[in-house]
Amino acid sequence: MPVVIAVPKETAPGEQRVATVPEVVQKLTKAGHELRIGHDAGTSSYYPDELYAAAGAKIATTPSGLLNGAQIVLRVQPPTVTDVDLLAEGTIVIGFMNAANNLPAIARMRDRKITAFSLELVPRITRAQSMDALSSQATAAGYTAAVLGADNCPKFLPMLTTAAGTIRPATVLILGAGVAGLMAIATAKRLGAIVEAYDVRRAAGEQVRSLGAKFLELEINAEGAGGYARELTPEEKAQEQQMVSAAVARADIVITTAAIPGRRAPLLVTKETVAMMRPGAVIVDLAAESGGNCELTQAGKTIREHGVMIIGPQNLPARVPFHSSQMYAKNLQSFLGLLVGKDGNLVREFTDEILVASLLVHAGEVCHAPTRDLLAGGKP
Ligand code: NAD
Repeated sequence: MPVVIAVPKETAPGEQRVATVPEVVQKLTKAGHELRIGHDAGTSSYYPDELYAAAGAKIATTPSGLLNGAQIVLRVQPPTVTDVDLLAEGTIVIGFMNAANNLPAIARMRDRKITAFSLELVPRITRAQSMDALSSQATAAGYTAAVLGADNCPKFLPMLTTAAGTIRPATVLILGAGVAGLMAIATAKRLGAIVEAYDVRRAAGEQVRSLGAKFLELEINAEGAGGYARELTPEEKAQEQQMVSAAVARADIVITTAAIPGRRAPLLVTKETVAMMRPGAVIVDLAAESGGNCELTQAGKTIREHGVMIIGPQNLPARVPFHSSQMYAKNLQSFLGLLVGKDGNLVREFTDEILVASLLVHAGEVCHAPTRDLLAGGKP
């Protein structure tokens, strides 16, 4: 029996991505699965219906045509309660679930016995790299942040030697050198800027330097469990603040990407530091949605203070939807490889460690303890 996989059009405001692309549809249909794509699902990422149809998908024009009999639903954004109500018991939904901010829909999936896999929970082990949608979308965000910074900077980024004089290169500072930060560094370097970067994890220094950027050193190592950062002590925070402020003040573009999973983004650029910056300087705050690394950031807005532009973008990967969708679709294709057995049928037991870790809701239970606690009214 073919596995029936449905891909709805994303409806969240500003979402331009789609959960699968024709190239992946072709591979999945060749493997014997039935693919249904919501009408216009790929239009805003420049994958028209005709390309999906040519790759072997059925284009569904009604919710029932898309979902009746579907065993798996692939999404980018989490489902809403209304989306959940359209699903039959036992349907498997895979995508970003943003569980802490989407509790009503999680509870509805539990009550309607939907199975949900959350891509945020895919463990960062080598075998799961091809399924790591957080990384693929952070790559898109880092690239876009650097381009956005350059676009709003009143200066050239590269050094220029011209008949009209010599232009000094711009300085770009990246705060937080994880996946997005490293991509922002690489992009700013390619544009010819002088690039400096800082991260609390010392291990990031080598990666920063290998991209040709300068790593700002502080005598702190704040690498915590699983390669993520731990929170700094108050003294460490003061030292960090001083060094970061001096670097921010000399930069033309500051791109901030610092994050600690499950917590508010660390505050790295205070309003006093913004006042020290040059007029015309630009801050692109990738942490805008989780509270901002800059004190003045407003999520979804661009503001000006002391002649400095502070951009608080939301959903940057959606600004490069063609490639973000392509990478995301490949992540999902790899993930599906764990759910479909060699015989082409859905696996009966979710025993693979990647499935176990990313299973959010199943058979009337919320399997992820922090989300279960949140639903019970406690802390994660
Ligand atoms: P993230 O989005 O959680 O955080 C972004 C960066 O902010 C991190 O590098 C973090 O160290 C940094 N940061 C936190 N607090 C800071 C502060 N006060 N000042 C400056 N920087 C601060 O991170 P991410 O991009 O998801 O990556 C986290 C780690 O996981 C990295 O080491 C990355 O290389 C690693 N990783 C591993 C795999 C894998 O092995 N499969 C995949 C992806 C990422």
